[in-house]
Amino acid sequence: MSPKRKLTIALVIPVFNEAGVIAQMHTRIRANIDSLPYAFTFIYVDDGSSDSTADELTALAKSDHRVTVLALSRNFGHQAALTAGLDASRGDVVVSLDADGQHPPEMIGQMLDLIAQGYDIVQAQRADDAQLGSFKKWTSGLFYRLLNIISGTRVLPGAADFRALSRRAVDALKSMPEYHRFLRGMVSWIGFKTAILPYHQQARVGGASKYSLGKMFRLAMDAIFSFSLAPLYIGLSMGGVLLFLALAEMVYVLSFWVTGRTSNLAPGWSSLMFVILIVSGMLMVLLGFIGVYVGYIFQEVKRRPVYIVKQG
Ligand code: UDP
Ligand code: MG
Repeated sequence: MSPKRKLTIALVIPVFNEAGVIAQMHTRIRANIDSLPYAFTFIYVDDGSSDSTADELTALAKSDHRVTVLALSRNFGHQAALTAGLDASRGDVVVSLDADGQHPPEMIGQMLDLIAQGYDIVQAQRADDAQLGSFKKWTSGLFYRLLNIISGTRVLPGAADFRALSRRAVDALKSMPEYHRFLRGMVSWIGFKTAILPYHQQARVGGASKYSLGKMFRLAMDAIFSFSLAPLYIGLSMGGVLLFLALAEMVYVLSFWVTGRTSNLAPGWSSLMFVILIVSGMLMVLLGFIGVYVGYIFQEVKRRPVYIVKQG
């Protein structure tokens, strides 16, 4: 990126039923960016809001010519709305942030400085003192720990969908057409030079969280199942354990034969036990093999690119 040309920045803001906070948020973002040496555009993605969000956004677009509104046909969810915004964006850099004021627009300047210094991704990470309910703190902690154990892609704990992306990072994300999207994981999967900026999450400016328990659960499922095949290997490992037990039982029974104490064995026990262990072990192993094939098929149908080129 040439330092002489003014960088063009697209702000992508997913909105779902935030009529009460939109105008205020827009004013706050403007107050923070109008003095910055970049050319900004706003993309508000209306994710099928059922309140007066659409009217608020139309009014915004009238008063500020840099505003574009992208309206989705129904509520597709936060990750889909973000994706729609990324796909529609033009310009050198995309910054995504929530509409509720929890992602401080005061940090946009600092994020863009880092991008101008050559970072492709500037990822905001929620500092631990954030104003989170203990339930969200606990579930989020558990979730990131589990995800990092079972998936090959490291996802930053407390990473937010508040980040700046260079054009080539956005293009890399656009080359991942998968349906079940967990952008925090996808952003770390694509690689590139990444800076992490801790931020202090504030309380919502207004309204309530749009993440119901069901939506949180679905996001967690998308993250786990699209970034890990570990659940599919459960059968294989359990089968291995059962077959090992069958072997141990065989040795145990043999020891009775060798020492001539077969009369101490309950009649029928050894053969029954052996058959149970062998059969269930074999079944589990076969199930595991099927799991592995399903896993490979799953990776293929995701149609993720095999690699991402940094520079042509
Ligand atoms: N959002 C969205 N679609 C949804 C749910 C949320 O576009 O189905 C938007 C919402 O308007 C906000 C952002 O995504 O701008 C984050 O949602 P929220 O603040 O409710 O999540 P939380 O901060 O509680 O995790
Ligand atoms: Mg929020």
